[in-house]
Amino acid sequence: MAHVTIKGLHKHFGAVHVVKGIDLAIADGEFTVLVGPSGCGKSTLLRTVAGLEQASEGTIEIGGKVVNDTRPRDRDVAMVFQDYALYPHMTVAQNIGFGLRARNFPRPEIETRVKRAAKMLNIDQLLDRLPRQLSGGQRQRVAIGRAIVRNPQIFLFDEPLSNLDAQLRDEMRSEIKRLHQELGATMIYVTHDQIEAMTLADRIVLMNAGQIEQSGTPLELYEKPRTRFVAGFLGSPK
Ligand code: ADP
Ligand code: MG
Repeated sequence: MAHVTIKGLHKHFGAVHVVKGIDLAIADGEFTVLVGPSGCGKSTLLRTVAGLEQASEGTIEIGGKVVNDTRPRDRDVAMVFQDYALYPHMTVAQNIGFGLRARNFPRPEIETRVKRAAKMLNIDQLLDRLPRQLSGGQRQRVAIGRAIVRNPQIFLFDEPLSNLDAQLRDEMRSEIKRLHQELGATMIYVTHDQIEAMTLADRIVLMNAGQIEQSGTPLELYEKPRTRFVAGFLGSPK
């Protein structure tokens, strides 16, 4: 059974039709990368899965249940954004544990989970620091830590690395790949970086103007692009 199923999804913002009939079934544990030109609706699609936007038409199912009317915090998803706004006055530990405190988890449970997440991300030496005392890469690790502590079965990433310099991006890309292997979670990852798409994806979904242009393994899209648009996007020779 698919873990996340999107059926006939449309999204309008007033008169603007942004998502125009998306059908997508994502298997449990699959790493799906959404790519496509700026403005084609990637973030909107992701935010609709997270529950931050309401679908205008169509359904989102998680674990076989329609979640269209479920609040974001009651969906089994955690989202990591590009601008990972950390709370400046809170320590790393407090930032990572914030979502658990908000959900009234018992304090020992929060401590255990924060330590485990921090260890997984190699920031367990930084738990008492404030965000301003961290590098960009370390801050992004804290943002990912906030998602991990909740033990979600689904991670949604919206261009999480695009604010980092090239070297850090490489490092964090490997880190995210390792996390996926370690956690076995389902991941949906938006990027405009071809290297990220080719190296991270079990499957690439290429969007264009609110629709899916083609989806398949990185190799399929590279070797058998169905349209010139796909070929152009992935730099393959068609
Ligand atoms: P992408 O992430 O692929 O760059 P987005 O999903 O952010 O694209 O945006 C797709 C289109 O929807 C853009 O034209 C954008 O201006 C529009 N859009 C996104 N969010 C809103 C909103 N809250 N209100 C109105 N228009 C929006
Ligand atoms: Mg976007």
